[in-house]
Amino acid sequence: MPDIKATEGSCLCGGVRFEIWGNALRFAYCHCKSCRKSSGSAHVSNIGLPKENLRWLAGEELVQVYTDEVDNPGFRRAFCRRCGCAVPKLSRNGLMYVVPAGLLDGDPGMRPDVLIWWEERAPWLKNLDALDKLGEGAGSAVRDPARSGFTGEY
Ligand SMILES: [Zn+2]
Ligand SMILES: [Zn+2]
Repeated sequence: MPDIKATEGSCLCGGVRFEIWGNALRFAYCHCKSCRKSSGSAHVSNIGLPKENLRWLAGEELVQVYTDEVDNPGFRRAFCRRCGCAVPKLSRNGLMYVVPAGLLDGDPGMRPDVLIWWEERAPWLKNLDALDKLGEGAGSAVRDPARSGFTGEY
């Protein structure tokens, strides 16, 4: 894996801030049920890196840990107590930080190269290349329903 360019990340409310750098162990999209449930999305996008390569800049006291006892027993989730945003957490063995890449405020320079737990992917997952691309949110589709076929309101 390539080096990560030193990059800062933050949660939605800005209370939790951190910095990562150095050699990543992996950058993966995880499609497991536990990740889908906790993110409310098709997959999480996580960078794994040695725990020495993350430094908390602010808000470590806001980090709340939840341990999954249902879909992936013993697997920890961490989130900001104030805004509910997923934040970095230690792996099961405590040696690696798992960093939600969506938190990064800059480009770390590396790209994901693997989809994990593919067999547990959502049935509605679709190839991104097959979907229309809008420059703005769904509201922009309302202005151009002929192109998108979207006739509702957002
Ligand atoms: Zn927050
Ligand atoms: Zn997962």
